[in-house]
Amino acid sequence: MIEIDLSGKTGLVVGIADRHSIAWGIAQMLDKAGAKLAVTYQNERLEPKVRDLAAALSDPLILPLDVTDDAQIEAVFKELSEKFGRLDILIHAVAFAPREDLMRDFVETSRQGYAIAQDVSAYSLAALANGARPLMKAAGGGSIVTLTYYGAEKVVAGYNVMGVAKAALEASVRYLAHDLGPDNIRVNAISAGPMKTLAARGVPGFMDMLKYHEEKAPLRRRVDMEELAGTALFLCSPLGTGITGEVIHVDAGYNILGM
Ligand code: NAP
Repeated sequence: MIEIDLSGKTGLVVGIADRHSIAWGIAQMLDKAGAKLAVTYQNERLEPKVRDLAAALSDPLILPLDVTDDAQIEAVFKELSEKFGRLDILIHAVAFAPREDLMRDFVETSRQGYAIAQDVSAYSLAALANGARPLMKAAGGGSIVTLTYYGAEKVVAGYNVMGVAKAALEASVRYLAHDLGPDNIRVNAISAGPMKTLAARGVPGFMDMLKYHEEKAPLRRRVDMEELAGTALFLCSPLGTGITGEVIHVDAGYNILGM
C-alpha cells in the first residue's frame, strides 16, 4: 500500500476565509498527511474565524497576511524562518477584484480595478514564491500550488477582469517554474471546477455557471473539496516530483469540451 506521509514537512497555506474555502480543504488534507502548517488570515475581521478553524489542526502557526502588503509578506517568512527553519509547501489560494469591476463587461474595467485584480490574484504568487525561495532551498526543494479557473483560457461570461488576472496567474506559474526549477522548487496550478465559496459568490451568474457545469461536464457533476485537496496533496507529495509549470484541471472534465 502506498501512503502519502508528509511528516517532517512544513507548509504555508494562504487564503482561508471560512470553512468553505478551498485553502481550508487543502490545509486539512495536508495536516492529515502529517505536515506542520502555518495558516494566515487577511485581516482582523477574519482572524477569529481562522483561529477557530485552525484549532482543528495540529499545533499550527497562525499569522496575519494581506498579500498586497510587502512588509507583512516579509514578516511571515521571517516568522517561518525562526519557527520552522525551512518550507516545503506553499498553497496560494487568494483572488480578489472589486465588485463593481466584476459586474462590468471586461471592456469597461477601470484602471484601478484591473490593477487590484492583478495585484491580489496574480502578482501575489510571485511575491510569495520569492519570499518562500530561501526557505524552500533550505529544505532541498519545495512545491508551490495555486488555484486558477477555466476563465483564464476561454471566455466565461461574467468572469470578466478575473479571467484576465487568472491568465496572468497561469503564465506566472510557468515563469516561476522556470526560475525556481534549478532549486528543485516546483510550481503548479490547479484549475478547479466551480465551488460554492465566498469568492465565487461574487462572480455574477455563479449559480448558473454551477448548474451549466453539472449538466455539461463529462462526469455530469461538480468536483468536491476532497478531489481538489487530494490533487494538491499529490502535487506536494513524493508522487508529484516530476511535475512543474502545469495547470492541472480538476473540473470533472469540463475543459475538454468544444460544444
Ligand atoms: P474564498 O474562500 O473566498 O477564498 C479567497 C481568499 O482570498 C479569502 O481568504 C480572501 O480573504 C483571500 N484574499 C482576498 N484578498 C486578499 C488579500 N489582499 N490578502 C490575503 N488574502 C486575500 O474562495 P475560494 O473559492 O476558496 O478561492 C480560493 C482560490 O480558488 C481563489 O484563487 C479562487 O479564484 C480559486 N478558484 C475558486 C473557484 C470556485 O469556484 N470557488 C474555482 C476555481 C478557482 P477575504 O475573504 O478577506 O477577502
